[in-house]
Amino acid sequence: MSKRQSATIAAQAGINRDAHYGAVVAPLHMSTTYSLKGFNQKRQFDYARTANPTTYTLASVLADLEGGRHAIVTNTGMAAILLLCQLLHSGDRILIPHDCYGGSYRLFTHLAKRGQFIVDIVDQTDLDAVRLALRKKPKVILVETPSNPLLRIVDIAQICELARCVDAVVAVDNTFLSPELQRPLEHGADIVIHSTTKFINGHSDVVGGALICKHRALGEELAWWANCIGVTGGAFDAYQTLRGIKTLPLRIVQHSANTQAVLQLLTTHKQVAKVYYPGLSDHQGHDIASKQQIGYGSMVSFELAGQDQQLRQFVSSLTLITLAQSLGGVESLIAHPATMTHAGMDAKAQQQAGISPSLLRLSVGIESALDIVADLKQALDALT
Ligand code: PLP
Repeated sequence: MSKRQSATIAAQAGINRDAHYGAVVAPLHMSTTYSLKGFNQKRQFDYARTANPTTYTLASVLADLEGGRHAIVTNTGMAAILLLCQLLHSGDRILIPHDCYGGSYRLFTHLAKRGQFIVDIVDQTDLDAVRLALRKKPKVILVETPSNPLLRIVDIAQICELARCVDAVVAVDNTFLSPELQRPLEHGADIVIHSTTKFINGHSDVVGGALICKHRALGEELAWWANCIGVTGGAFDAYQTLRGIKTLPLRIVQHSANTQAVLQLLTTHKQVAKVYYPGLSDHQGHDIASKQQIGYGSMVSFELAGQDQQLRQFVSSLTLITLAQSLGGVESLIAHPATMTHAGMDAKAQQQAGISPSLLRLSVGIESALDIVADLKQALDALT
């Protein structure tokens, strides 16, 4: 049978897999432990930290959606990134982008300070800088595209080609788009990372993560480590995430349509100084995004024309859009990266990454576009 379309894989997530009772929806297995059939005769599952039927079902759906051979469900997105670090021995190098998610930046720089590995930080949109960094032979390259919060685009296929020359493993954080809009393994990546907290679950009620590998051997190595260090996800979280994933393709359609309406306002309003969105033809990575992405997504960052006082006024006049961390949920959220999501970066690192104090990051939800735009417009119009 031909490979199913993503809308089918998502809607059918976990459906009809219960051989025991024929439950149509994947059952929630809360048992932490599983009996042996007899002495030294294990069943498929033995202890829930290693795996359990519900997380196993979620892992297989995520592997199908990303086109990977092996997925590991972790208890947070950061746990998936910590799991990636297990590929590194002391003295090994990891190459990360200068503008990755603040929490990832904090993890890598602090573990490096303890001597667990060496971290090299470059602007990965500059391929000459990447080539130079590759001379140091990193073992792992982390790519985040579009990046958080400036939505910079990195050419996955080109980085993977360069990485192959030095035998580096390429892991792509695909949190900002989801497999519905970008499938990095198809462009040569070895690993895809997700904070499933975001679009994959989509309802802002589960924190979770996943790491999906193109090849089984790497997947098995990382699954061994996930069990060893205890970062695997829980059954109830997996159950809820399976429920969320069923509407991922539908949600993405609405998120994307609403974003177009929001862009029309932001790109023409005099109180907005700059808009960052890969779908705009003047965006740094527009051509690459058009080539490697299926759509441009629903994350938009922008800078206001005014200073601190206007920023505070704008944010506090919003009545529908909530000032909160996170993204990818059905509700529209706005964040101030400098003081929120990227507070883990010091002022110098923020400046190097281009995160100005007037930057705001909007996660466009699936409410009516009319209401989202009206809320932004009244808050912008009120600025003097
Ligand atoms: N990767 C990206 C791009 C993120 O934006 C985040 C969180 O915002 C993470 C990873 C970490 O995920 P979690 O918050 O689920 O640990």
